[in-house]
Amino acid sequence: MICDVCGHGMRLVPTAEPDVKTLWICAWCHAWTVLGHLPHEVSRPQYAPVNLRWERADSTGLPTGVLHAYGHFGTTLCGLRDEGLSASPYPWVPEWDSACPGCRSAAAEIDGRWPVEMRDGNREWAPPPPGSHWPPF
Ligand SMILES: [Zn+2]
Ligand SMILES: [Zn+2]
Repeated sequence: MICDVCGHGMRLVPTAEPDVKTLWICAWCHAWTVLGHLPHEVSRPQYAPVNLRWERADSTGLPTGVLHAYGHFGTTLCGLRDEGLSASPYPWVPEWDSACPGCRSAAAEIDGRWPVEMRDGNREWAPPPPGSHWPPF
């Protein structure tokens, strides 16, 4: 799947959420496209500012004291890989003193990859798949 935000390739990401059938995340700008998420069959979350965008990475193997953001592809945003790494239910805010500097610069870089015209709720909703009985939006 090609990212509707930046035109780079999206990657299929495993998800454990019961109402999500397929989750695609762009490797470049980290935009999401979710298939099978109620009440929309195709959901494209809008642009979110960098301090509202990321979840804290959760893993027993990471050193404590530094908070990393979860980078979606089995690593932290700064690229640390660890068995059992996952997104925690908690936010990750780059302004925090304990925020990892590597994650902070990666978050800023990814933020810069969202074209200005795609922000402010301008991401287009995808039409539902053919044969859908669900309301379009
Ligand atoms: Zn993208
Ligand atoms: Zn980090």
